[in-house]
Amino acid sequence: MRAVDLIRKKRDSGTHSREEIDFLISGYTRGDIPDYQMAAWLMATWLRGLSHAETAALTEAMLHSGEVLDLGSFPGKKVDKHSTGGVGDNASLILAPIVAAGGLTVPMISGRGLGHTGGTLDKLESIPGFNVNLSLDRFRSVLRECGMGLIGQTAEIAPADKKIYALRDATGTVENIGLICASIMSKKLAEGIDVLVLDVKTGSGAFMKSEQDSTRLAEIMVDTGQRMNKKVMALVTDMDQPLGRFAGHSAEIIECIGVLNGKGPADLRELSCELSAWMFYLGERTKSVDEGRELAFEMVASGKAREKFRQGIALQGGDPLVIDEPERLPSAQSSVNVVAGRSGFINTIECEQLGIALAVLGGGRETKESTIDHGVALEFHKRIGDRIERGATLVTIHYNDDARLAQAKSMIAASYHIAPEEPRFKPQLIRCTVGWQD
Ligand code: URA
Repeated sequence: MRAVDLIRKKRDSGTHSREEIDFLISGYTRGDIPDYQMAAWLMATWLRGLSHAETAALTEAMLHSGEVLDLGSFPGKKVDKHSTGGVGDNASLILAPIVAAGGLTVPMISGRGLGHTGGTLDKLESIPGFNVNLSLDRFRSVLRECGMGLIGQTAEIAPADKKIYALRDATGTVENIGLICASIMSKKLAEGIDVLVLDVKTGSGAFMKSEQDSTRLAEIMVDTGQRMNKKVMALVTDMDQPLGRFAGHSAEIIECIGVLNGKGPADLRELSCELSAWMFYLGERTKSVDEGRELAFEMVASGKAREKFRQGIALQGGDPLVIDEPERLPSAQSSVNVVAGRSGFINTIECEQLGIALAVLGGGRETKESTIDHGVALEFHKRIGDRIERGATLVTIHYNDDARLAQAKSMIAASYHIAPEEPRFKPQLIRCTVGWQD
């Protein structure tokens, strides 16, 4: 077999066999197939697409390029959740302690921010001392002790994805359903989980902008997981506006602590509770999703989820006092308001632009080597459908460096579209479920 023949085949809309996909992935991971051939294959694939069977074969090949955790000796079900990425989405940091406090094991291998989206690992690293780079042995012992662990992709986990993702990022081949599915599912299935609940984002701040594309992505991820005998379901959820009131690393940690204290914004509370409820149900901890919701509420109301988060932070080297004293987290020195240029109703928000504006202020990476300013944040005062008067605040920017403040301000101002009439439809938070019925 030769890589060039497989590139030609995909270019001409052919369908690969499992053996062909194994050849490409194992050859590229070993270094036998060079970047330029893989880049050409990725672009052909981006243009021509992958069938369900090809996507499943690609996921398996990427999964088996590295180690698959064996958590068989742990009691009960091992469950995880994954979001396809958005702005202000910190639900993982809320539901991991809720679900672990409720008695299931949550081995969460997460990612860093990509493009305009925030990353769970970056948010956790705003907690002084928090170590996301545990060895797999240490990860197992943290999981045994507290039922949850949050780390990054190690060299052992899906190394093919690590290499291919970097190439996709540099060759404009990220936004493809089959490639996204294989990338996410290979990492998640390497965690040795029984259950995966997916939060597939849709809208202006998601990778998939239309509900139709998001639903297709959800379907293919569920299908891929089920082909590998895992219980997988997806919620397709709104990303036409930021989730919660803040985007920014420390600010989102503070928001999570608020939710774990029974407060926080309604949308973030609802989404975290719904995802936890599905994890409890599919993890066979409760008999229904309704019971799962009750258990999630109980874990928050009793303070058990907050205490689980405190324990998890301490076990990973972080400062557990941040739970009671959030001022220990990095913060921004200055703030400035972006105000509405006219009166009316918030009609639409270009949510992706808000994520890019945060990155421009230092709260995201422009290159892989960039360091992140964990203290900067955007504070959102208005949601779609809200009334606003000319001169009232849309967004407060919390910043440290004014070098690119003017650029960020104008991007944010241009992201809010204000109309004279109230919009007929406000985005619904949870659009649909895929793959499982209550
Ligand atoms: N997240 C991933 O891990 N991979 C993708 O391809 C897209 C989002």
